[in-house]
Amino acid sequence: MTANTALPGQPHIAYAGDQLHVEAMALSQLAREHGTPLFVYSKAAMLSALAAYQRGFAGRQAQICYAMKANSSLAILQVFAEAGCGFDIVSGGELARVLAAGGDPAKVIFSGVGKTRAEMKQALQVGIGCFNVESEAELDVLSEVAMGLGKKAPVSLRVNPNVDPKTHPYISTGLKGNKFGIAHEDALSAYRHAASLPGLKVVGIDCHIGSQITDSTPYLDAMDRVLDLVAEVESAGVPIHHIDFGGGLGINYNGDTPPQADALWAQLLTKLDARGYGQRQLMIEPGRSLVGNAGVCLTEVLYLKPGEQKNFCIVDAAMNDLPRPAMYQAFHQIVPVTPRTGDGLVYDVVGPVCESGDWIGRDRQLRVAAGDVLAVLSAGAYCMSMASNYNTRGRAAEILVDGTKAHLIRQRESAFDTFALEQLV
Ligand SMILES: *Cc1c(COP(=O)(O)O)cnc(C)c1O
Repeated sequence: MTANTALPGQPHIAYAGDQLHVEAMALSQLAREHGTPLFVYSKAAMLSALAAYQRGFAGRQAQICYAMKANSSLAILQVFAEAGCGFDIVSGGELARVLAAGGDPAKVIFSGVGKTRAEMKQALQVGIGCFNVESEAELDVLSEVAMGLGKKAPVSLRVNPNVDPKTHPYISTGLKGNKFGIAHEDALSAYRHAASLPGLKVVGIDCHIGSQITDSTPYLDAMDRVLDLVAEVESAGVPIHHIDFGGGLGINYNGDTPPQADALWAQLLTKLDARGYGQRQLMIEPGRSLVGNAGVCLTEVLYLKPGEQKNFCIVDAAMNDLPRPAMYQAFHQIVPVTPRTGDGLVYDVVGPVCESGDWIGRDRQLRVAAGDVLAVLSAGAYCMSMASNYNTRGRAAEILVDGTKAHLIRQRESAFDTFALEQLV
């Protein structure tokens, strides 16, 4: 690596001299001060990802609701709340986090196929903006809960446009046969049903077709399908105030080339304008594309274990910290924080957890020695928020870098923290 080389798709993560930096902070120094595994996020990277959406929607009535399951750490939510974002939540726990981070409940939309009555009640009491309902049965329960509180629940129906986002099957959600959403052909009757229920107020329509989408075609197709429904539902006498196109835009993990958010929205808005819906209230729910490439996970090399068939590079981060490779065979780039010279070897980078599925990268050319610190890239989304305590490993600490400042936003969990709620009989 040469001086001042930004990593692809990650302009705020760059080598300066022989040191990898997040903004102005050298990662080797953060690893020394805070230990590893350590998540480090760039505030500037998050805000510049958000700015691409904001540019895309300039002059429109649009609300960006950050899909916080991608990374729900309080300080991350705070950054987005202060930048004007609402939040897409999928549980009552996430709602509590939004409130703790200073988010506006009126800008919260509640997604998910399995909301409980207790979660509905909690969300109605704080006055969330919208429930994105996923089944007819949920409509009935929500109406009942709202009536019990003397309220009307604002609802949108999540429709399933049946388009293939061409992504990993575990993160594709808009096809027939997925558990998500209401089938296109059932949507009109579901809207009639919703409009007839005394505890509900129909406010919108939404869809979300999948995640890590790297092509604009599925979005354009889904938009056509959703707008067809808007026309149909409104001509049946049910007005639809807002249209929510979900999230799903991909990031560059390994040479992927997703459209930029502003370019994608230029295309989508052209279609919306052509069909006469460009002045509607619009909503989107991006998660990964706002945070994924704003974060890295630092991990120390514990042992090198050469073998006949494979060389292993054993590091102190594991599948409990970085679950995506084990869960989705996902690829994360792995780079040294302080590069060495020489040829190196091809390694499988693995963690200490007692599972063969505990790998972080396979067949990686690395020049490393025990004690070196590696950076696992694109670790801002669906890493810390999916982390677990498997093998009684405390979850990693997290740092938010803002220029020359590094804020510790989450302390490392101790072993005691991991069993603090347990009791001997
Ligand atoms: C997960 C999810 C999102 C965010 O998806 P990304 O791929 O992270 O942008 C948005 N909306 C809903 C309903 C989701 O379930």
